[in-house]
Amino acid sequence: MARIVCKFGGSSVADATQFRKVKDILEGNPERKIVVVSAPGKRNPQESKLTDLLYSVYDLAKNNLELAEPWKLIKDRFIEITKELNLRSYIREELDALEKSLLEQSSELTVDFVVSRGEYLCAKIMSEFLGAKFVDAYPLIQFDSQYRVTQQSLDNLNAALSDTNPLYVVPGFYGSDMQGNLKTFTRGGSDITGGILANACDCLLYENWTDVSGLLMADPRIVKGAHSINYVSYREIRELAYSGANVLHDESIAPCRAKSIPINIKNTNKPSDPGTTIGPTPVHSPRIITGIAGRKDFSMIYIEKSMMNKEKGFGRKVLAILEDLGVSYELSPCGIDSMNVVVDTKSLSKVEAEVLAEIERKMQPNKIKVFTKLALIATVGHGMVNQIGTAARLFGILAKEKINVRIIDQGSSEINIIVGVNEADFEKAISAIYSEFVD
Ligand code: ASP
Repeated sequence: MARIVCKFGGSSVADATQFRKVKDILEGNPERKIVVVSAPGKRNPQESKLTDLLYSVYDLAKNNLELAEPWKLIKDRFIEITKELNLRSYIREELDALEKSLLEQSSELTVDFVVSRGEYLCAKIMSEFLGAKFVDAYPLIQFDSQYRVTQQSLDNLNAALSDTNPLYVVPGFYGSDMQGNLKTFTRGGSDITGGILANACDCLLYENWTDVSGLLMADPRIVKGAHSINYVSYREIRELAYSGANVLHDESIAPCRAKSIPINIKNTNKPSDPGTTIGPTPVHSPRIITGIAGRKDFSMIYIEKSMMNKEKGFGRKVLAILEDLGVSYELSPCGIDSMNVVVDTKSLSKVEAEVLAEIERKMQPNKIKVFTKLALIATVGHGMVNQIGTAARLFGILAKEKINVRIIDQGSSEINIIVGVNEADFEKAISAIYSEFVD
């Protein structure tokens, strides 16, 4: 029987009312057999996500500080959910054991273990509420330091969930490293668990349930009334998610893409809305572009050296310096005698002095300078391929709005034009591009 993996994000499991909505959704389609949950999220904007509270209690315990206040918020939330759903309260024992280990500062307690308990306990409660089988992700999903999941993990999951009859609940966000230590993915990583399960169990579809009815063409805080996207290809969503579109973890796409499994982003609070489907086929949007996304907090290292173009290995050596100091780069637009490397400001700031000193020492440039407070904006769409004049329209509107473009990058695939602008122009640039291409 074909199965659907349903991942429910933090807002979809924030309280007992949301748990009931999850149950209704699952009952609405018998193919929905595999459930992945996040930890309970915020019930209102003032509240903290349970994962953030778990990070706080770990830090407080480690520094020998009072953790009673955030711990009470964690405990109360779980107990409240179980009480309202009339479940047995065995969860108390697990919570008490965790509190005890935190207070005793048990040496086995790692930050990854503590924060993973948000998903673990949520999945335990959900499986009891649904009468489903709980399958822990910890011994089954194993990944290396680059978060690459092993083939063995896929085989493990396939075997553990091979019976297609039961409903399974699996906690998202964690697994183990190659040494068998419990490890979390990066933040928002329950999406990745959903993608891995879809792949391992050869599912028909991966439904990602959240609190919005799919993806919008631009951030609605910047473009009021931005249109929704009905369909987007894997390649487009990868570019948009990487560039800041904040709905789906960008690393959750590859496992589905590997087996052409479509992903449907759906709204738990409006389940009949179609949401956004992500699939293999590139579709040319009549609007030319499919979406716009962007991120702030970038810096650009500008390196100038005469006759740079003749110096073999110049770029490789600069990038090796960054690699050795643990800074990954986003883009590297080059001139004849100049090279720019765009990096995340946060990762550069920790080692900026060393990076500059190493470049000075090894490359002996004529000039080296770091520009900060840059933003990157990606305009994405298969509709741009072979469409003469798209770049002219994009740069034309930015010029008309008097926005200085600091960086330009268009991949050879032609589905993404990236521009770098000063952070102060970020919102204005996104609104301008949107208005140029979308009504
Ligand atoms: N709970 C984790 C986080 O807040 C993982 C997730 O929700 O996907 O990042």
